Amino acid sequence: MPGKNISRAAPLSPEDIDLRAELKSDVQRLAGEIGERNMWRYPQLNAAADFIEDSFSRAGLHPRRDSYELRGQACHNIEAEIPGTRPDIVLIGAHYDSVFGSPGANDNGSGVAALLALARRFAGKTTQHKLRFVAFVNEEPPYFLSDQMGSFVYASRCKDRGDRISAMISLETIGYFSDAPHSQSYPAPGLRVFYPTVGNFIGFVSNVHSRALLRRSIALFRKHAKIPSEGAALPSFVPGVSWSDQWAFWQHGYPGIMITDTAPFRYPHYHSAADTPDKLDYDRFALVVSGMQKVIEGLDKL
Ligand SMILES: [Zn+2]
Repeated sequence: MPGKNISRAAPLSPEDIDLRAELKSDVQRLAGEIGERNMWRYPQLNAAADFIEDSFSRAGLHPRRDSYELRGQACHNIEAEIPGTRPDIVLIGAHYDSVFGSPGANDNGSGVAALLALARRFAGKTTQHKLRFVAFVNEEPPYFLSDQMGSFVYASRCKDRGDRISAMISLETIGYFSDAPHSQSYPAPGLRVFYPTVGNFIGFVSNVHSRALLRRSIALFRKHAKIPSEGAALPSFVPGVSWSDQWAFWQHGYPGIMITDTAPFRYPHYHSAADTPDKLDYDRFALVVSGMQKVIEGLDKL
């Protein structure tokens, strides 16, 4: 679903300016102050969990820890729910661990900051669907695409309980943009023919099974979008398509999409010590998050 609606980002509204400050502060907290956070930096991983839990509480939500044990240590997914009038769930997720050796500002401080900002905006609202905001632990290797991944443990418990998840949205590395020629690459050479070679857009990616959700979501985003977007429903074996928590939900039969700046296909500091808060483009990052607020509002009305 290549898009041609707009070529560059629009100026920020007063709401977007507030949102930008919030995102910047939360990325700074996670990647600047807490820093690298994973099973090798276990106190930092827990500091991130505490920060997320506290942020949900301050928003007036009642967070819950969904915990499991790994290498003899407790690991926690953190969830907060807006009760809906119907049993169906729209789940928004982002992983909060960072890869070994990286402070993880864009991957995935950006996704977590967006998750918290969205949760604050829906807290106290009446919705039809249950809106569930979940911060996942242990997305990165060596747990990546395994049954030890936080989101895999979480999704299997949802399946066992019979949770009716009608949409899972994975916020994965969403804060880097570039207007430089050839700043965008792709996992398969054919994609270059259909999609832009400038990395100034936000990507919506799904497997083939979730293509209806992908189409709906990107249509809602484009209705309000102030930043270009591109969508692709591709077989899950195409490199990159499965590379986040949506994969865990696909494994349990749930539809899911990933929102991403395409990470290694654009971001020069991917999975490195240089993935620091100063690398993000907070103006465009804020436009992505305000657009996602509209997507969630729209999905809730369906
Ligand atoms: Zn990631």
